[in-house]
Amino acid sequence: MQTDIFIAGAGLSGLALATTLKQANTPFVLADIRDRVGGRILTLDSSHDSQAATVADMGPSWIWPGQPRIAALLERLGIEVFEQYSNGLLVYEDESGQIRRDLDYSTMAGSLRVKDGLGRLTRDLAAQLPDESIQLSHRVICVRQQQHGYEIDLQHPDGKLTVQANKVVFAIPPRVIAAHIDFVPALPEQVMQDLTATPTWMAGHAKFFALYERPFWRDAGLSGDGISRRGPLMEIHDASAAGSDYGALFGFVGIPANSPARSRRRLLDDATKQLERMFGPALADPLDVMLKDWAEDSATATAADNATISHPHYGMPSSIAALADQGLLFASTEMASQFGGFIEGALEASETALQQLNIKGVSS
Ligand SMILES: Cc1cc2nc3c(=O)[nH]c(=O)nc-3n(C[C@H](O)[C@H](O)[C@H](O)COP(=O)(O)OP(=O)(O)OC[C@H]3O[C@@H](n4cnc5c(N)ncnc54)[C@H](O)[C@@H]3O)c2cc1C
Repeated sequence: MQTDIFIAGAGLSGLALATTLKQANTPFVLADIRDRVGGRILTLDSSHDSQAATVADMGPSWIWPGQPRIAALLERLGIEVFEQYSNGLLVYEDESGQIRRDLDYSTMAGSLRVKDGLGRLTRDLAAQLPDESIQLSHRVICVRQQQHGYEIDLQHPDGKLTVQANKVVFAIPPRVIAAHIDFVPALPEQVMQDLTATPTWMAGHAKFFALYERPFWRDAGLSGDGISRRGPLMEIHDASAAGSDYGALFGFVGIPANSPARSRRRLLDDATKQLERMFGPALADPLDVMLKDWAEDSATATAADNATISHPHYGMPSSIAALADQGLLFASTEMASQFGGFIEGALEASETALQQLNIKGVSS
């Protein structure tokens, strides 16, 4: 298979890049190791009720005012946003399990959520691309420099595929590239060091979701915001879908990724009990619970990402930027200097890649 631009990774950055290349009539192939597009954007349907809006954002939930690219892209695609529910009081639990339900404070007021979940965005972008340009369940294993361009080896369930391309764009988290992809010749040592030193944003996290008949906490004057020093969830928010009668909460797990206490079964059980403890007896029996542990997912996280970190200052190291002259480009959100780590950063990074490729038009 032969193309002009090979894009590794069909998360938001890779998809935004691909849709712009399509508009510019530039041939490309987009490949992803997973059997779905979206990468860290992952919206699951609850199995409880296939007729109703019971979607769960198990990756990102929010965008924020002041993020121009994602706002423009959602508008162009006709996707609605709504405000994070934040009316009412916050519940606080201390280390000993003492609970306060009188805190007039909202941790996420003003944040915006996407109607039908963020997965709608990546699905709609993928739907704009010709089927033959997307290779899902294709893992990039090796990139070989040729006299002109690159040869890329991909592993898929039925064997191997080799793609010849003039240029390669990696819309894959830097650490995942360094850990899992071979380069012939090897990348310069400084590049490997810089890739390995860049933490993948949120990769060490796990998200728990619980669906209820109704948002019972709202009746009690609670917003669904919760902070706990006891755990296993450390931070809880209302996750009810827009226009749904069902209620939902999600929480970030506060147990480190390499701890034995972060076992799936135990977490599902303990997190359910915690929500009952903090928000009241009506939450004892959720209709559905889901857990996504990103630290276990090697298409996102490496062992170095086990620790949860505060938001690093991201941007493209000069060693990595210099490879653009040789036709190797890097475009995951971690490469964005202004909004690195965020959804907006994925669009910012793909926009930079388009400039490096000399392609007119932006992802939005
Ligand atoms: C739990 C969680 C909560 C978050 N919350 C927010 C939030 O509220 N707001 C916000 O703005 N951001 C949030 N983020 C961050 C946000 O998800 C990312 O900024 C964004 O999705 C990154 O997009 P990307 O395209 O750069 O990378 P990714 O989405 O990681 O895409 C990379 C792609 O590369 C693929 N890949 C990996 N290895 C290979 C290989 N060898 N071969 C082929 N393909 C490969 C992966 O499968 C993936 O599809 C959150 C992330 C997580 C995990």
